[in-house]
Amino acid sequence: MRKQRIGILALQGAFIEHQQALQRLDAEPVLVRLPEQLQGLQGLIIPGGESTTISRLMVESGLFDSIGKLALERFPILGTCAGMIILGREKPPQSVKTLRAMDIETTRNAFGRQVDSFETDLAIPVLGQKLFHAIFIRSPVIDTLGTGVEVLAHLPDGTPVAARQDRLLATAFHPELTQDLRFHRYFLSIISEQG
Ligand code: GLN
Repeated sequence: MRKQRIGILALQGAFIEHQQALQRLDAEPVLVRLPEQLQGLQGLIIPGGESTTISRLMVESGLFDSIGKLALERFPILGTCAGMIILGREKPPQSVKTLRAMDIETTRNAFGRQVDSFETDLAIPVLGQKLFHAIFIRSPVIDTLGTGVEVLAHLPDGTPVAARQDRLLATAFHPELTQDLRFHRYFLSIISEQG
Protein backbone atom coordinates (compact mmCIF):
# COMPACT_ATOMS: atom_id res chain seq x y z
CA MET A 1 0.00 0.00 0.00
CA ARG A 2 1.23 3.50 -0.82
CA LYS A 3 2.22 5.64 2.15
CA GLN A 4 -0.21 8.39 3.05
CA ARG A 5 1.33 11.76 2.15
CA ILE A 6 0.38 14.21 4.88
CA GLY A 7 1.34 17.87 4.84
CA ILE A 8 2.41 19.66 7.99
CA LEU A 9 2.21 23.43 7.92
CA ALA A 10 5.78 24.38 8.80
CA LEU A 11 5.70 28.17 9.06
CA GLN A 12 6.15 28.34 12.84
CA GLY A 13 5.57 26.19 15.90
CA ALA A 14 5.74 22.51 16.81
CA PHE A 15 5.82 20.93 13.36
CA ILE A 16 8.87 18.66 13.85
CA GLU A 17 7.05 16.61 16.50
CA HIS A 18 4.15 15.99 14.12
CA GLN A 19 6.66 14.94 11.47
CA GLN A 20 8.14 12.37 13.85
CA ALA A 21 4.71 11.04 14.85
CA LEU A 22 3.73 10.54 11.19
CA GLN A 23 7.04 8.83 10.41
CA ARG A 24 6.50 6.43 13.30
CA LEU A 25 3.09 5.60 11.80
CA ASP A 26 4.71 4.89 8.43
CA ALA A 27 3.05 7.86 6.72
CA GLU A 28 5.03 10.31 4.57
CA PRO A 29 5.14 13.76 6.15
CA VAL A 30 5.65 16.75 3.85
CA LEU A 31 6.62 20.09 5.36
CA VAL A 32 4.49 22.79 3.74
CA ARG A 33 5.66 26.38 3.40
CA LEU A 34 4.29 27.27 -0.04
CA PRO A 35 0.89 26.73 -1.72
CA GLU A 36 2.36 24.45 -4.44
CA GLN A 37 3.52 22.04 -1.73
CA LEU A 38 -0.14 21.20 -1.03
CA GLN A 39 -0.28 19.26 -4.32
CA GLY A 40 -0.75 15.52 -3.98
CA LEU A 41 -1.38 15.48 -0.25
CA GLN A 42 -4.05 13.40 1.44
CA GLY A 43 -4.34 15.55 4.56
CA LEU A 44 -2.79 18.45 6.45
CA ILE A 45 -1.78 19.18 10.03
CA ILE A 46 -1.78 22.74 11.37
CA PRO A 47 0.48 22.59 14.44
CA GLY A 48 0.59 24.44 17.73
CA GLY A 49 2.64 27.57 18.04
CA GLU A 50 1.58 31.19 17.99
CA SER A 51 -1.67 31.53 16.10
CA THR A 52 -1.18 35.22 15.30
CA THR A 53 2.21 34.46 13.69
CA ILE A 54 1.06 31.30 11.89
CA SER A 55 -1.97 33.13 10.49
CA ARG A 56 0.09 36.13 9.34
CA LEU A 57 2.62 33.85 7.60
CA MET A 58 -0.23 31.88 6.00
CA VAL A 59 -1.63 35.06 4.50
CA GLU A 60 1.80 36.26 3.32
CA SER A 61 2.64 32.93 1.65
CA GLY A 62 -0.74 32.53 -0.05
CA LEU A 63 -1.41 29.40 2.03
CA PHE A 64 -4.34 30.99 3.86
CA ASP A 65 -6.50 31.06 0.73
CA SER A 66 -5.27 27.70 -0.61
CA ILE A 67 -5.92 25.88 2.66
CA GLY A 68 -9.27 27.66 3.07
CA LYS A 69 -10.30 26.38 -0.36
CA LEU A 70 -9.22 22.82 0.48
CA ALA A 71 -11.17 22.90 3.74
CA LEU A 72 -14.34 23.71 1.77
CA GLU A 73 -13.67 20.65 -0.39
CA ARG A 74 -13.73 18.29 2.61
CA PHE A 75 -9.94 17.98 2.70
CA PRO A 76 -8.88 16.33 5.99
CA ILE A 77 -7.19 18.77 8.37
CA LEU A 78 -6.00 18.27 11.95
CA GLY A 79 -5.41 21.45 13.95
CA THR A 80 -3.66 21.24 17.31
CA CYS A 81 -3.71 24.12 19.80
CA ALA A 82 -2.90 27.21 17.69
CA GLY A 83 -4.00 25.04 14.75
CA MET A 84 -7.40 24.58 16.38
CA ILE A 85 -7.79 28.37 16.70
CA ILE A 86 -6.96 28.73 13.00
CA LEU A 87 -9.46 26.06 11.91
CA GLY A 88 -12.41 27.69 13.69
CA ARG A 89 -13.57 31.17 14.65
CA GLU A 90 -12.05 33.16 17.46
CA LYS A 91 -14.49 34.54 20.01
CA PRO A 92 -14.64 38.37 19.78
CA PRO A 93 -12.62 40.51 20.16
CA GLN A 94 -10.72 38.68 17.45
CA SER A 95 -6.96 38.97 17.22
CA VAL A 96 -6.29 36.25 14.66
CA LYS A 97 -7.52 35.86 11.09
CA THR A 98 -8.87 32.31 11.07
CA LEU A 99 -10.16 29.94 8.38
CA ARG A 100 -13.67 29.57 9.90
CA ALA A 101 -13.75 26.12 8.31
CA MET A 102 -14.83 24.37 11.47
CA ASP A 103 -18.01 25.45 13.26
CA ILE A 104 -16.34 26.09 16.62
CA GLU A 105 -15.70 29.31 18.49
CA THR A 106 -12.49 29.35 20.51
CA THR A 107 -10.96 31.50 23.23
CA ARG A 108 -7.18 31.85 23.13
CA ASN A 109 -5.03 31.35 26.24
CA ALA A 110 -8.16 30.25 28.03
CA PHE A 111 -6.51 29.01 31.20
CA GLY A 112 -4.89 32.32 32.10
CA ARG A 113 -1.45 33.01 33.46
CA GLN A 114 -1.72 31.03 36.67
CA VAL A 115 -2.11 27.68 34.93
CA ASP A 116 -0.92 28.36 31.44
CA SER A 117 0.42 24.81 31.09
CA PHE A 118 -0.85 21.60 32.60
CA GLU A 119 -1.14 17.91 31.87
CA THR A 120 -4.09 15.65 32.47
CA ASP A 121 -5.41 12.24 31.45
CA LEU A 122 -8.51 12.47 29.29
CA ALA A 123 -11.12 9.95 28.28
CA ILE A 124 -11.30 9.97 24.47
CA PRO A 125 -13.72 7.16 23.59
CA VAL A 126 -12.91 7.15 19.83
CA LEU A 127 -9.32 6.22 20.74
CA GLY A 128 -10.30 3.30 22.95
CA GLN A 129 -10.60 2.78 26.69
CA LYS A 130 -7.10 3.79 27.76
CA LEU A 131 -6.93 7.43 28.89
CA PHE A 132 -4.95 9.84 26.72
CA HIS A 133 -2.23 11.91 28.39
CA ALA A 134 -2.97 15.46 27.22
CA ILE A 135 -0.45 18.30 27.41
CA PHE A 136 -1.93 21.81 27.41
CA ILE A 137 0.40 24.76 26.73
CA ARG A 138 -1.21 28.22 26.76
CA SER A 139 -4.13 26.43 25.21
CA PRO A 140 -7.38 27.63 23.77
CA VAL A 141 -10.73 26.07 24.60
CA ILE A 142 -13.85 25.56 22.53
CA ASP A 143 -16.59 27.89 23.78
CA THR A 144 -19.38 27.08 21.40
CA LEU A 145 -19.82 24.51 18.68
CA GLY A 146 -22.28 23.93 15.87
CA THR A 147 -24.62 20.97 15.52
CA GLY A 148 -22.36 19.16 13.04
CA VAL A 149 -19.49 19.08 15.51
CA GLU A 150 -18.83 16.03 17.66
CA VAL A 151 -17.01 16.55 20.97
CA LEU A 152 -14.28 13.90 21.29
CA ALA A 153 -12.97 14.92 24.71
CA HIS A 154 -13.74 17.35 27.47
CA LEU A 155 -12.26 18.44 30.77
CA PRO A 156 -13.95 17.32 34.01
CA ASP A 157 -15.88 20.64 34.09
CA GLY A 158 -17.37 19.90 30.66
CA THR A 159 -15.15 22.23 28.58
CA PRO A 160 -14.69 20.65 25.14
CA VAL A 161 -10.99 20.22 24.23
CA ALA A 162 -11.13 17.96 21.16
CA ALA A 163 -13.70 17.88 18.38
CA ARG A 164 -14.44 16.49 14.94
CA GLN A 165 -16.55 17.92 12.12
CA ASP A 166 -16.59 15.55 9.16
CA ARG A 167 -12.90 15.41 8.12
CA LEU A 168 -11.75 18.29 10.30
CA LEU A 169 -10.23 17.45 13.68
CA ALA A 170 -9.15 19.85 16.41
CA THR A 171 -7.44 19.47 19.77
CA ALA A 172 -6.71 22.14 22.34
CA PHE A 173 -3.82 19.98 23.60
CA HIS A 174 -0.67 18.63 21.94
CA PRO A 175 -0.92 14.94 20.94
CA GLU A 176 2.42 15.27 19.13
CA LEU A 177 4.27 15.91 22.41
CA THR A 178 3.54 12.44 23.81
CA GLN A 179 4.61 9.01 22.62
CA ASP A 180 0.96 8.03 22.27
CA LEU A 181 0.25 7.89 18.54
CA ARG A 182 -3.47 7.14 18.79
CA PHE A 183 -4.66 10.62 17.87
CA HIS A 184 -2.50 10.74 14.73
CA ARG A 185 -3.59 7.20 13.87
CA TYR A 186 -7.21 8.31 14.23
CA PHE A 187 -6.56 11.19 11.80
CA LEU A 188 -4.98 8.78 9.29
CA SER A 189 -8.00 6.49 9.60
CA ILE A 190 -10.36 9.39 8.81
CA ILE A 191 -8.28 10.02 5.68
CA SER A 192 -8.50 6.42 4.52
CA GLU A 193 -12.30 6.42 5.04
CA GLN A 194 -12.50 8.52 1.87
CA GLY A 195 -14.13 6.77 -1.08
N1 GLN B 1 -1.45 30.55 22.93
C1 GLN B 1 -1.21 30.20 21.56
C2 GLN B 1 -2.05 31.03 20.62
O1 GLN B 1 -2.98 31.65 21.04
C3 GLN B 1 -1.45 28.75 21.31
C4 GLN B 1 -0.49 27.92 22.11
C5 GLN B 1 -0.06 26.65 21.48
O2 GLN B 1 -0.29 26.41 20.31
N2 GLN B 1 0.63 25.86 22.25
O3 GLN B 1 -1.81 31.07 19.47
